Amino acid sequence: MAGFDILPQFDKPQQRDLDKCVHCGLCLNSCPTYRVLGIEMDSPRGRIYQMVQVQNGAALSESYREHIGLCLACRGCESACPSGVQYGRLVEAARAELEANTQRHWTAQALRDFVFTDLLPSPFLLRTAATLLWLYQKSGLQAVVRATGLLGLFGKLAELEKLSPPAQLPTFFAAYGKVFPAEGDRKYKVALLGGCIANVSFARLNEATVRVLQKNACEVHVPADQTCCGALHLHSGIRAEARRLARRNIDALAKGGFDAILTNSAGCGSTLKEYHELFEHEPEYAEKSRQFSEKIKDINEFLASIPLNPAMRQLPLTVTYQDSCHLAHGQKIRAAPRKLLQAIPGLQFKEMPLSDLCCGSAGIYNVLQTELSMQILERKMELANSAATQVIATANTGCMLQLRAGVEKHGNGQRVAHVVELLDEAYREK
Ligand code: SF4
Ligand code: SF4
Repeated sequence: MAGFDILPQFDKPQQRDLDKCVHCGLCLNSCPTYRVLGIEMDSPRGRIYQMVQVQNGAALSESYREHIGLCLACRGCESACPSGVQYGRLVEAARAELEANTQRHWTAQALRDFVFTDLLPSPFLLRTAATLLWLYQKSGLQAVVRATGLLGLFGKLAELEKLSPPAQLPTFFAAYGKVFPAEGDRKYKVALLGGCIANVSFARLNEATVRVLQKNACEVHVPADQTCCGALHLHSGIRAEARRLARRNIDALAKGGFDAILTNSAGCGSTLKEYHELFEHEPEYAEKSRQFSEKIKDINEFLASIPLNPAMRQLPLTVTYQDSCHLAHGQKIRAAPRKLLQAIPGLQFKEMPLSDLCCGSAGIYNVLQTELSMQILERKMELANSAATQVIATANTGCMLQLRAGVEKHGNGQRVAHVVELLDEAYREK
């Protein structure tokens, strides 16, 4: 049965959540935007104060939009808060309320609808877009457009274009509907979620994830009916569409009899584990979503919880680890990736200071708030450089893209890799 969209009154910050904040300010130093801007209204406490004003009848002003828009939704403040404020839930609800009260030019609205409703959930359209991007870069058209400054006429489009990844023949994760047997005795039956953008920009990471799982007694299913998790929709306040995608994933995966449903992207994992929050007011999916969320595991969390296959070759690398916000703060998982890295023979692990401070990626934040994102990244790279390692490991695809841009601009030639890619390398013959 098709679900229904929730009444808008549920899609705004709830009083019970706002009331938990006692305005102590202990979260301020954990907030990347406050650390860079030094403005109370760009701190967690300041943003919560503004949300309270709005719920008490204040207008949804431009200033409110700006301060809520500048939040990374990194949830660093949640980890620091002694009062248990669920800030991530608050900021997503605040954005939903803003989105419901936003008027756009019809062309801008049509483009936004296309990206969130058609493009992200469609592997076919994403592949087409990736191929067109590659053709644009390889044909020399990009060089001409950049030289003429043509895109400057379209404002944000010029900045977006600069952030496009370098020309690379697109590779696609072509495993949907397939089952990969375990190497040796099967102990676990797991499902892998391939992601949306990751299908085209991180196809090799998905393949490495399958191989590492096979090495660890897993039969890996890649269900064909899965779709985008809806994380980008939630960060942008588009909750009705996020619910539609959540229902699709729940219906496609819940009955597979899997020991675990896995993702290698911390941002997706955090959203998938919180699907039940989307259905608090929808009885049909309230219980189904809770059972579904209980099966979701981040790949680091899963591998660290089973006896790891020790048949790895030496990997003589110095490696530091950047905590992905949605793994450390969203899912409270910090030890698992470190345990996995330290299990690789020959690998020398070194902590970087403030490893759980956001790198400025935050979904599409680096596209929407490019200037502040780049300032946050520059500070992150100072911390990463101080660890003096050959590799910066992380656990989220968005962080990987951002850190690669950081290495290019401010780094010491480090390689950026997902924890699973290093494991895959260690399991492979040279
Ligand atoms: S969010 Fe938590 S830490 Fe921050 S001011 Fe409120 S109660 Fe204090
Ligand atoms: S989510 Fe991140 S950027 Fe937003 S208020 Fe909390 S710590 Fe600051």
